[in-house]
Parts: sequence; C-alpha cells; structure tokens
Amino acid sequence: MSKKKLDKIEKVVIANRGEIALRILRACKELGIKTVAVHSSADRDLKHVLLADETVCIGPAQSVKSYLNIPALIAAAEITGADAIHPGYGFLSENADFAEQVERSGFIFIGPKAETIRIMGDKVSAISAMKKAGVPCVPGSDGSLDDDMVKNREFAKNIGYPVIIKASGGGGGRGMRVVRSDKDLEESINMTRAEAKAAFNNDMVYMEKFLENPRHIEIQIMADGQGNAVYLAERDCSMQRRHQKVVEEAPAPGITEELRRYIGERCTKACIEIGYRGAGTFEFLYENGEFYFIEMNTRIQVEHPVTEMITGVDLIKEQLRVADGQKLSIKQKDIQVHGHAIECRINAEDPNNFLPSPGKITRFHAPGGFGIRWESHIYAGYTVPPYYDSMIGKLIAYGETREVAISRMKNALAELIIDGIKTNVSLQLRIMNDKGFEKGGTNIHYLEKLLGIQEK
Ligand code: ADP
Repeated sequence: MSKKKLDKIEKVVIANRGEIALRILRACKELGIKTVAVHSSADRDLKHVLLADETVCIGPAQSVKSYLNIPALIAAAEITGADAIHPGYGFLSENADFAEQVERSGFIFIGPKAETIRIMGDKVSAISAMKKAGVPCVPGSDGSLDDDMVKNREFAKNIGYPVIIKASGGGGGRGMRVVRSDKDLEESINMTRAEAKAAFNNDMVYMEKFLENPRHIEIQIMADGQGNAVYLAERDCSMQRRHQKVVEEAPAPGITEELRRYIGERCTKACIEIGYRGAGTFEFLYENGEFYFIEMNTRIQVEHPVTEMITGVDLIKEQLRVADGQKLSIKQKDIQVHGHAIECRINAEDPNNFLPSPGKITRFHAPGGFGIRWESHIYAGYTVPPYYDSMIGKLIAYGETREVAISRMKNALAELIIDGIKTNVSLQLRIMNDKGFEKGGTNIHYLEKLLGIQEK
C-alpha cells in the first residue's frame, strides 16, 4: 500500500530477533520496504516473525547455528530476492567478515564498510585512528605492549598508577585488568595476554590510565559516507551492573551545549576522515570535565530510542536511507535537543540474583500515556526462550524536563504487568526512586554500590 521511498532497497532481511527486529520491521514498513524475518526454530512465535512479509527458518535454537550462521543468512537473502541485510545489534552486527560476505554476495550491508568495522573492532587501531582525528583518548601506551618490561614499566610510570591492561580484541567488558603497583605489572600483562588469546584469539594488549570514578557518556553519530556526518547529542549510560547498561538517558545531566558541541564536532570530523557510513557511537569515559574515548560501536545501539526522543530523528530510517546510497536527510543545524528521555531495560531475570528467568508470560499489560514508549516483542502467551539475551523490552519515558521524565517512568513501571516470569521491574523502580539517580550524574560504580556488590 505504501509508496516506495528508497531507490535500491526494496526488501530487507532482518538478521536479528526480539525487540530490535520489530523496531527494524516497523521502520521498513514506514518506508514501504518489504521485510524478511529470519528466525531460529525456537523463535517462530516472535512478534516480528508474525508481522513480516516473508519468513525463513535459518536453523536450530542455538545462536551459532542460526543468528550467527553466515551462510544461512546469505542464503535467506538469496532465496527471498532481498536487496539488503540489517544486522541489528549483537550477533553479527560488528562482524567485519559478515559485512564483507554480505557485500560480496551482492547485498547491501546496513552498516559501515567491512574495513571500518575491522579497524574499530580492534581497540589499538581504533584508538590510533581517533587520536589522529583529534578525538581525546585515555592517556596510554599508544599501541600494543610487547615483552620488554623495562619499556612497559616506563609506560606505567609515565601514565601513573593505577593503570588498566586491556585486550585489543576485547569486548563485552571482558579482557581487562587493573594494576595498582609496579610489582603486579608483569603478571597482569601476562595474564591478560593469556586470557585474550583464549577468549578472542588475539593476544595483543595495551595499557591505559585507569580512571577511578568516571561516568559513561557516549555520542551518537550518523554519517552517509559521502562527506556528511552529524552528532545527535549524548547519552549517559553510567547506571551499569557488570559493565552492562541498565538505565540510559539523554541528554547527560550537566553536559552543556558548549561541551556537547566540542566533543560532537570531534566525533563528526573523525567520521568524515575515516569515511564512516551509517549509525555509530563514540563511547567515552567522562571524569572531571574531560572526555576520554574508549571505543566506537559501529552499529545501532540498544539505547538509541532516548536519542530519537530528544532529537526527533528516526535513526533506523536514517540507517536505511544511508545504506540506500542517499545523503543524510538531516543537517547539524537542524538537530536540536528538546526535553529529556530515560530508558529502562526490562529483563527476564530474578531481581535478587540476576539469573535469567525464561518461561511463559501468562498475563501482560503494556504501560502508556503521554511521553511513554514501549519497545518490545512480548505479549500474553509468549514464551521467553532460554537461549538468548534476557532483555525482553525497553521502556522509554520522555518529558520536557528530567523530573517529568522520571515521574512518567515511575508511573509506567508501576503500570507494566508481566506475569509468569521474573523481571527486573522492581529494580528499575528502585533506581527511579533513588536520591542519587534523582540528582543525576552518578558514576559507573554507583549501581553496584547501591546493590551492595563489591568490586572485584
Ligand atoms: P568492552 O568493549 O569490553 O565493553 P570498553 O573499552 O568499552 O570494553 O570498557 C568497558 C568498561 O570497562 C568501561 O565502561 C569502564 O567501566 C571500564 N573501563 C575501560 N577502560 C577503562 C579505564 N581506562 N579506566 C577506568 N575504567 C575503564
């Protein structure tokens, strides 16, 4: 029924599951693009599978045999005559080999070029590209460490203890070790190296200053690979448990328009220099008024809706347009920050021990009202499978001020009913009612301290 709005892309394979697959499906529908839902045998009842134009079962429940199965995904695009593949987040979204094989097979990969993903996926090369482009980085070893301990000790001395040894190929908060004194340096380097080799098949490690109490602030960017890039303000994702984000908000409390412009312009300049294409996020640690780049995510992120709420830009539609070869539809001067948005991740987990709680949802009621957005694939009667991430939805509250957003979030969390499984709704309510959160600007250790979890 809807008119075709893009030139090349008429049919998209959604290579993901859950809420993000539904989010992509909705954006495709708005643009008049046909959708192919690929799914594992455990995911036949997912909401986007029921709503897609075509569906293809790509394998059994285990991700390695389905959502991570590159030949099956490419075959699905071939048999359905699709033009493009959207990887979502997680799974293969930051896999350079996948992006390369998609393009080599004649399909559009909705994301950056494989080469860009490869550079950014390796932290040492990402940091060096960012430094060159003028993005502020954490003081560090400026490259990987070798076995010369005299040189390594000198690095640590110049940087100043504590330092952190990190795996260049690391991800998901793994492959890093804090070193507080010279006597532990050698052993820590060797251990991180061995772990990195085992976990990421890459034993390259590097050294950075360890920041004691930073906040996590990230900049959303969008670029078309044709010389245009914009920044869409920042998000504060400091409310974390085990390096996993629990609550995100935009804008970040206390960040001035001037500071936003300073860091945003550096990010867009870097995007243009590296020929970046698509949506991306520059992650920073923020301490004592300074930004320190830690990594770039070359995909859409879970927390993208808070940015959409305060800027009015549909990031998924923009990703599709850029992948279609079009120029950015937005200019920097058009991007204004209005109001405040908060996202609570809703997980199927026990709020006391954080263990996953899969199972059948017996009763479900979605919250609503002015400024409330519910991004989720669940419904009454849906069974949350045990095989995947425990996030089952995202509740987003928008308000003209942060206070209004918090109060709407409290109401919405209280209205949300998910029976039959355990969820973290009570934890989210606790955070929304917390004095420190209310004040804003808490650091990355705040939630674990609140929960009484001691740092390892
Ligand atoms: P990953 O790719 O595994 O997520 P990151 O480089 O993004 O790794 O770091 C993950 C988390 O580790 C950060 O959010 C922060 O909590 C901590 N971290 C990383 N580097 C530093 C640092 N230099 N100082 C303090 N904390 C750090």
